[in-house]
Amino acid sequence: MDLEAIVKQIHSCIEHDKQITFLIGAGLSVDSGIPTFRGEEGYWTVGSKNYQPEEMATFQMFSQAPKEVWNWYLYRKSICLNAKPNEGHHNLKKIQHLLDTSCSIVSQNVDGLLSRVGIKASNTYHIHGDLDYVRCTKPCTTLKIPFPDSIEVLNYKKNCLSDSDWKSLHCPECGSLMRPHVLWFDESYNQTHYSLNSVMKKIEQTGILFIIGTSLTTNLPSTIVQYVLSNNERVIEINPNSSDFSKLLQDAANGQSFQSGSSQFLAQLFKQLSSFKKG
Ligand SMILES: [Zn+2]
Repeated sequence: MDLEAIVKQIHSCIEHDKQITFLIGAGLSVDSGIPTFRGEEGYWTVGSKNYQPEEMATFQMFSQAPKEVWNWYLYRKSICLNAKPNEGHHNLKKIQHLLDTSCSIVSQNVDGLLSRVGIKASNTYHIHGDLDYVRCTKPCTTLKIPFPDSIEVLNYKKNCLSDSDWKSLHCPECGSLMRPHVLWFDESYNQTHYSLNSVMKKIEQTGILFIIGTSLTTNLPSTIVQYVLSNNERVIEINPNSSDFSKLLQDAANGQSFQSGSSQFLAQLFKQLSSFKKG
């Protein structure tokens, strides 16, 4: 990997008013001990049946069994709260600081670690939501509401949702049940909750897209990659394993794919960026 060339390209983009965009996925948080919640890690037992995340994380399941879905999210949130940001998060913050308004971050992670490490909220988009927030299930407001602090999540054990927790999960305005502020598998991206239009505007202005720790299995992230490629701008994938896009990127004149861990790459990129001299 020629980091010096990559850093030169970054500076050329900045001079031409283009965005450097980081598309972030679960791989960034693996070093913090947060599982991907796919396969066996994500099993959830209701009665005698095991459910997969693809079944639990749906509006349909929430409508049928809201307490079960909330129990599952409180358990997931407890794992996130007990995790600490890793070197990858820290270096991404430093890179954002260096690149300033030329840097956009599009994150698929709902674990809250980007905001805990101090990543600036401007130009940062959580396209799959954020477990630090809840929303009313009724249209009384479209605003996201900070997660109720009366619920003690840090020491949460599976299936221990209390009556008072349940009460706290009701809207302070209208009393309806609230839901996690996350995009479910049977729902669509939109501007109101997931900044869809704002993200696409940044993607139109993107000169280099870094794909960090995501296998691009969901709809919007793969659209973003295809958009930047067809716009003849640069796409650089960093993944410990190859993804569905690796071959395409290796073959494309404006694509590159490197096998590397997220934290390792971001540390090297920050180092190279901070020692860059013009000329
Ligand atoms: Zn409400």
